[in-house]
Amino acid sequence: MINIPKGTKDVLPQDAYKWHYLEDTAREVARLYNIREIRTPVFEHTELFLRGVGDTTDIVNKEMYTFKDKGDRSITLKPEGTAGAARSFIENGMAAGLLPVKMYYIIPAFRYERPQAGRLREFHQFGIEVYGAAGADADAEVISCAALFLDRLGIKGVKLNINSIGCKSCRADYNAALKNYLRPRLGEMCATCRERFEKNPLRILDCKEEGCKAVTRGAPRILDYLCGDCAAHFGKVKELLTESGLEYTVDPDIVRGLDYYTKTVFEFVSDNIGAQGTVCGGGRYDGLIEELGGNPTPAVGFAVGLERLLLLMENSGVPFPADEGPEVFIAGMDERSRAAAFGLVGRLRKSGVSAECDHMGKSVKAQFKYADKIGAKYVIALGSNELECGECNIKCMADGSTRAVKLCDVCECFKS
Ligand code: ATP
Ligand code: MG
Repeated sequence: MINIPKGTKDVLPQDAYKWHYLEDTAREVARLYNIREIRTPVFEHTELFLRGVGDTTDIVNKEMYTFKDKGDRSITLKPEGTAGAARSFIENGMAAGLLPVKMYYIIPAFRYERPQAGRLREFHQFGIEVYGAAGADADAEVISCAALFLDRLGIKGVKLNINSIGCKSCRADYNAALKNYLRPRLGEMCATCRERFEKNPLRILDCKEEGCKAVTRGAPRILDYLCGDCAAHFGKVKELLTESGLEYTVDPDIVRGLDYYTKTVFEFVSDNIGAQGTVCGGGRYDGLIEELGGNPTPAVGFAVGLERLLLLMENSGVPFPADEGPEVFIAGMDERSRAAAFGLVGRLRKSGVSAECDHMGKSVKAQFKYADKIGAKYVIALGSNELECGECNIKCMADGSTRAVKLCDVCECFKS
């Protein structure tokens, strides 16, 4: 037998309604925010992620699904959604159109990681991107969009943590201070962090190794190094969050895994799903479009991990709307009425009513049982009597009541 690859999951038909609920809610929230969908390829040139995600990140260093195609091009399955959206923004000249450009995506993403609860090799993200708006209101809008998504799903108790990691200029001062602090302690840190020390010391704050965490606990804080502009921007974000009724905590340790972030960074975190508690991460990345060859364009966005969200909803007993069965099941008592049932089911479906009949040669009794099991709301039994007089009974499965209807009127009856 051939098994599913490690770190991937099937969504079985009986569970698909949960995914539809997540996706429908995401699309509805995007609609409320006037955000249109962007669809980009599942694979891109590897170069896009090297530049767009950053070569000091775990994603680029360890996690990418990269391969040579038959034309000897280096191709990578997308590990996240922002780089592809940014590439498309530039390639399609969106900067010359109406700004801001607001886009969302629901995508599979691929990262070669050690699989555990809430950490897969193929997972799914709902994300949004806002390009062209530099003000703090865009940051607050993006954060409030993520909050509304969680709220609409009925998720409670997820904490919003925010931070600012400044712009290029304040980051330079901070990096110098951070390096001065870390230099004498490098011996206590992991090999990856020692490497990051020169390239991108800020990323050391994101390391999950205990030794490194112990060292960084006493490190200088970026918030103390923000330039006037970045400090004002962060102040405004906080003001607008409060204005929107959103509670938040300033967490100076959030730096986000990706290199392209500037100013605001944020996470929505739950303590109900174990170690992988971050269900949503996002922030501002004003440097990304330019890094990818476009004109400098401010940008802000988030991505929610849908598997983690599902896990959180299941663990905390958040209700899903019930999976619906067909509207009506048509049972046939003999060869001829089974054929008539088949025809009627076809006509019902054509008129937009979900309908089912037997395909397993079941007895009439077994057909009724089956109709009940699949959650059919109504059942009609056809036999020689019904066919002869052209009339049948529609049985309501919820209360057992019946009503007589002409066979030729059945479709009309169910059309709402
Ligand atoms: P983590 O620190 O947990 O590795 P990350 O910083 O790598 O997360 P992002 O790149 O910000 O994550 O991705 C956004 C969201 O996507 C995360 O908050 C998480 O919900 C989800 N996510 C990331 N990696 C995985 C994965 N391997 N499996 C499932 N969900 C994931
Ligand atoms: Mg990660």
